[in-house]
Amino acid sequence: MSRVVLALGSNLGDREGTIRAGIRDIAALDGVELLAASGLVETPALKPDGVDEDAPAYLNAVVTAETTLEPDELLAALHAIEHGHGRVRDVRWGDRTLDLDIIDFDGRTIATDDLTVPHPRAAGRAFVLAPWLQVQPDAAIPGLGRIDALLAATGETPRPYPAEPLT
Ligand code: ATP
Ligand code: MG
Ligand code: MG
Repeated sequence: MSRVVLALGSNLGDREGTIRAGIRDIAALDGVELLAASGLVETPALKPDGVDEDAPAYLNAVVTAETTLEPDELLAALHAIEHGHGRVRDVRWGDRTLDLDIIDFDGRTIATDDLTVPHPRAAGRAFVLAPWLQVQPDAAIPGLGRIDALLAATGETPRPYPAEPLT
C-alpha cells in the first residue's frame, strides 16, 4: 500500500463542482482509498510568462490517499478522469477544466518520460503547499524539506475559497 498526495486544479467551467467530482472519481478508483481532502484555495492563473490576471482564476485542492496501484497506473487513471471532465491539452499551462497531478508517491523518487515525482514544481507553488499543509501538517518533500518552510519561502498566502467541506 502506498500513500500518495494528489493536487487538483480547475479554472474553467464549474470549478468547484468539477473538483468535487474529481475527488469522487479518485475515491471511486479500484485500488484507491481516499484519506483526506483539503479545503479550496483560489489563485490567479499562472502562465509561462507569469501571473495572468486576465485568465480565469484557479481553484486548487489537495487530497491524500492510499493505493495499491503502481505510479504509472495511477497516472493513467488520473488522465482518464481529467479526460472525463473535458480536459484538453494544447498550450502549456493552458486553461483547463481539471488538472490532476501526483505530488508525492510514498516518498519515492520517480523519473520516467511520463512521470516525475515528487512533482518538480510543487515546492514553489503556494497553491499546492497551502492545501497540502491542511491535510499533512508535518509533510516534507524528499530532498527539499518541510512543506511549511517551503510555503513560507514562497511569500504567498493563497486565498481560502469558502465552500462546504470537499469530503
Ligand atoms: P505542471 O506539471 O507544471 O503542473 P500541467 O499539470 O499543466 O503542468 P499537464 O498538461 O497536466 O501539465 O501534464 C503534462 C504531462 O506531465 C502529463 O502527460 C504527464 O505525463 C506528465 N507528468 C510528469 N510528472 C507528473 C506528475 N507528477 N503528475 C502528473 N503528471 C505528470
Ligand atoms: Mg499541474
Ligand atoms: Mg497536470
